[in-house]
Amino acid sequence: MMVLDDEQATLDVGRKLGGLLRAGDKIALRGTLGAGKTTLARGILEGMGFGEEVPSPTFAIVQIYEPPETRIPVAHVDLYRIDDPEEIPELGLEEVLVDGTMIVEWPDRMPDSFWSDALNLELEITKEGNRRLTWTAGDAWEDRWPLT
Ligand code: ADP
Ligand code: MG
Repeated sequence: MMVLDDEQATLDVGRKLGGLLRAGDKIALRGTLGAGKTTLARGILEGMGFGEEVPSPTFAIVQIYEPPETRIPVAHVDLYRIDDPEEIPELGLEEVLVDGTMIVEWPDRMPDSFWSDALNLELEITKEGNRRLTWTAGDAWEDRWPLT
């Protein structure tokens, strides 16, 4: 568990994580609306080399970033507006994992089994107004998470 005191702290964790990602990695970001999922994703993208403003993918659902903008391809995904799981294969996410990574907000629209080897991060708003970060991580993360 980590307490993130402000937006900068959330971005910092993201930046560090972004430096560690490799092809095939999945990151699931859980938490209520406004918990900081997109903020964390912005930090990750920055840590992967992206130097511009990161839009929330709420409306586009999938936003793809590719070299040279980022070190390896990244799909930033928000499944909030997906209500039929059958729409998910059409998003082409499996393809991204071949040589890239995915960061997914509202991951519970996909089956639990898909996330067993992922870095599963959860953000909660504390009563003081900062954020509590908790996680479960698959074997692929053993030497990378928690951050040192
Ligand atoms: P989500 O994608 O989960 O809906 P956003 O990242 O879009 O959330 O928005 C989160 C809001 O919380 C932003 O206004 C951001 O500045 C703020 N925020 C992010 N991290 C922290 C933090 N550690 N402490 C306080 N506020 C934060
Ligand atoms: Mg969001």
